[in-house]
Amino acid sequence: MALDYTKRSHTCGGISAADVEGEVILCGWIRHVRDLGGIIFLRLWDRYGESQVVVDPEHAPGAHRIASGCHLEYVVALRGVVRYRPEDQIRPDQPTGEVEVLTDELEVLSPAKPLPFPISDEAPTNEELRLRHRYLDLRRGPMTEMLRFRHRFMLQMRNWLSKAGFLEIETPVLTRSTPEGARDFLVPSRVYPGCFYALPQSPQMYKQLLMVSGADRYFQIARCFRDEDARADRQAEFTQLDLEMSFASVEDVLGITEGLFSHLWRELLGIEIPAPWPRMTYGEALDRFGTDKPDTRFDLELVTLSDVFRETELSFIKGPLDEGGVVRGLRVPGQAGASRKTLAAWENIAKSAGVGGLVWIKWPDDGSWSSSIKKHLTDEAVSELRGVSRAEPGDLLLLAAGPAGRVNTALSRLRLHLAAELELIPEGSWDFLWVVEFPLFETDEKGNLTSSHHPFTMPHPDDLDRLESDPLSVRSASYDIVINGVEIASGSPRIHDREVQRRIFRTLGLSDEAVEERFGFFLEGLSYGTPPHAGIAPGLDRLIALMLNRENIREVIPFPKTLRAFDPLTGAPATVDDNQLAELGIQVRKIGSD
Ligand code: ASP
Repeated sequence: MALDYTKRSHTCGGISAADVEGEVILCGWIRHVRDLGGIIFLRLWDRYGESQVVVDPEHAPGAHRIASGCHLEYVVALRGVVRYRPEDQIRPDQPTGEVEVLTDELEVLSPAKPLPFPISDEAPTNEELRLRHRYLDLRRGPMTEMLRFRHRFMLQMRNWLSKAGFLEIETPVLTRSTPEGARDFLVPSRVYPGCFYALPQSPQMYKQLLMVSGADRYFQIARCFRDEDARADRQAEFTQLDLEMSFASVEDVLGITEGLFSHLWRELLGIEIPAPWPRMTYGEALDRFGTDKPDTRFDLELVTLSDVFRETELSFIKGPLDEGGVVRGLRVPGQAGASRKTLAAWENIAKSAGVGGLVWIKWPDDGSWSSSIKKHLTDEAVSELRGVSRAEPGDLLLLAAGPAGRVNTALSRLRLHLAAELELIPEGSWDFLWVVEFPLFETDEKGNLTSSHHPFTMPHPDDLDRLESDPLSVRSASYDIVINGVEIASGSPRIHDREVQRRIFRTLGLSDEAVEERFGFFLEGLSYGTPPHAGIAPGLDRLIALMLNRENIREVIPFPKTLRAFDPLTGAPATVDDNQLAELGIQVRKIGSD
């Protein structure tokens, strides 16, 4: 009679000394075969662990015949008896390391073709191949660990929020455009030819309307879709914890978020996170670190040195200063001895962010100084630079000149590089930070005003009167979470007053007709009794990648897409049948043709 795999008695990770002399039925994948000519040793794997299996030709010739035809990753079922391993094979560090199973009966449930890459803890270097065979990649140890962690993470989060009074409510994926600053993914409608659904960039408007409904405390593990250009820490579809609270202050949302994160860190990593987390304004973050998502685990702060160069004749400094730019610097402690080659490498990093070059000044321990612009610096200027940057003997100062945005980008990128190269980040440290008071608006490449976050963000109450006259100076009441320099979440109190919402839309250059057409339903909703409300939405893929210390978010998404939003597994996106297109009333044109 065939072996009944439905009667599996243990998982591969589930046998122990307590089972010795007991009969077991195991099912799993053959991860490793060692054929000693007579006895065959198998390592049988399932997601719970591995068991050592012995197939002895003397003991079970039938099973041995089958085992000798088995290859890696065959799925088998076996019946056997658990026994202690010989002394020299005991692996005390492994859960099943004391025991093995002597096989009586073996059956192949499913063979496997030769593998495109070995299943081991080490990831194959060809990522496209990994993604094409993601089902195999997910059999690797770090990936099964990730799947388990993700599951536990979601469970802990759901339970904690549920206990805190939040309702989990689903909102549609086929909907209208919800602006979050990216392009929409569109889905054509068959029933309404020429009309399209948009996939949500976030459930923002729905969650606000849920507050109008009286949901009071809502959350959702929401899939969001943004058609953006490739970035290592972005995916076209990703998962957010979307959260909204009625009658809530900023402090309430921050408090809930800190509570939830503390819980997750404690339960999942065994780490206590001190709360409340520090807060820093956007302005201060740019000033001190050159970025709105500073990694505050190490110092290396930026300093502004424009004043020292007011009289300079050096064209590559004078030029930018005359055009309203800045000179900023980064003091690097103890690096006065940096070689020409090292300095050139650091300069290249700054240049890749768009500045013309880096100037260096060194103060060696002997009290002298040297610089790449030595001829153009007076002793007074050097001592001023030293004073402002608080350089000590042995330090190096790196300077960049140009438009403020570019200088900040260059120096903040360099700062991160230096931290890694000089090992300035304490191992295992966690730095939680709220960045607050972002500008409400920014300008896009074409110079148009856009929302820094989304148009439903409450302006800072002190700045409301400048909304029309000087919109770029208006701060928002928003808050971002930055952990170890990674932006994890944005949130804000929302505009619950229809009139303020209309003013924002007008400031963004939307005509009343356009507003009515795109957001009429939403403004209508706000007019039937809207409680003041506020919320936040942490990106869960980034958060999990941080917690698991994984390089990029593709490592923690079960089925991610490539940087070019391609799915090598299914081949999506793909062309579709002419019939399907005809049904949708769609004709595909070659780009560039009429
Ligand atoms: N909807 C926002 C986002 O996706 C988050 C929020 O404001 O709650 O970033």
